Amino acid sequence: SKAALFDAENKVKITFKDVAGLEEAKEEVQEIVEFLKNPSKFTILGGKIPKGALLVGPPGTGKTLLAKAVAGEADVPFFSLSGSDFVEMFVGVGAARVRDLFKQAKAKAPCIIFIDEIDAIGRHRSRGQIQGGNDERENTLNSLLVEMDGFATDSGVIILAATNRPDTLDSALLRPGRFDRQISIDKPDINGRTEIFNVHLKPLTLAPDVDAKKLAAQTPGFAGAEIANVCNEAALIAARRNKKAVDQQDFNDAVDRVIGGLEKKNKIIS
Ligand code: ATP
Repeated sequence: SKAALFDAENKVKITFKDVAGLEEAKEEVQEIVEFLKNPSKFTILGGKIPKGALLVGPPGTGKTLLAKAVAGEADVPFFSLSGSDFVEMFVGVGAARVRDLFKQAKAKAPCIIFIDEIDAIGRHRSRGQIQGGNDERENTLNSLLVEMDGFATDSGVIILAATNRPDTLDSALLRPGRFDRQISIDKPDINGRTEIFNVHLKPLTLAPDVDAKKLAAQTPGFAGAEIANVCNEAALIAARRNKKAVDQQDFNDAVDRVIGGLEKKNKIIS
């Protein structure tokens, strides 16, 4: 079957209010929202709108969510692809996919292109001899660089890319005119976790003993993705127990379950 080349969402409903915490990052991307809404306002004095920004931070901290919220706030289409999709791809396919993505995005500008796990395609290129050009990852990276250089800064296409390993990126990607801005997305502190809990508790039917602050204190080291997971698990646990509302005990068990899952994952990695 012919898989979709990439995901395109023409109408993004996520906005900044769905992204809890990350105040500094939101402030930084607010500028991108303004560029997308009114590019000519910024270029009138000869300035160039940045082509892209790199969202840097650990897994599950809301990089994808924030990129989507930029599209939602600016009310522009959101195109996305993941670097990991390009691993072990047939020769020529990755580069063609990148070209196609940019072609479609330009036709829909203003818009956002989001590249998740850009490190999977954007690692340092091999030193010395290029092996007959048969490294598809390298071809894909080259085509990304060509595409980034090939569109005008006022074309209305802004590329956001996410990585948790900025140190491994090919320096060509970080050059001026490419991903020359980095926005760091850190794991939330206790206040950030409280805010994230508040977002994810909202749709649940809760018992009076549930408190976002208490849950935040119970979950040091958790990223937003894990917090979302805890809330969902707790609701399912409570439902299985035939409760009318999700209570603290359900959350305790959900936290244990999510920690158990994380430990398992770490064991596999190490
Ligand atoms: P990865 O690097 O693993 O792709 P990511 O940083 O892109 O992760 P997201 O995919 O944006 O993380 O986050 C996963 C989910 O976790 C979100 O869809 C959301 O439900 C929740 N989440 C993460 N961060 C936040 C946040 N700051 N506020 C609210 N929800 C969050």
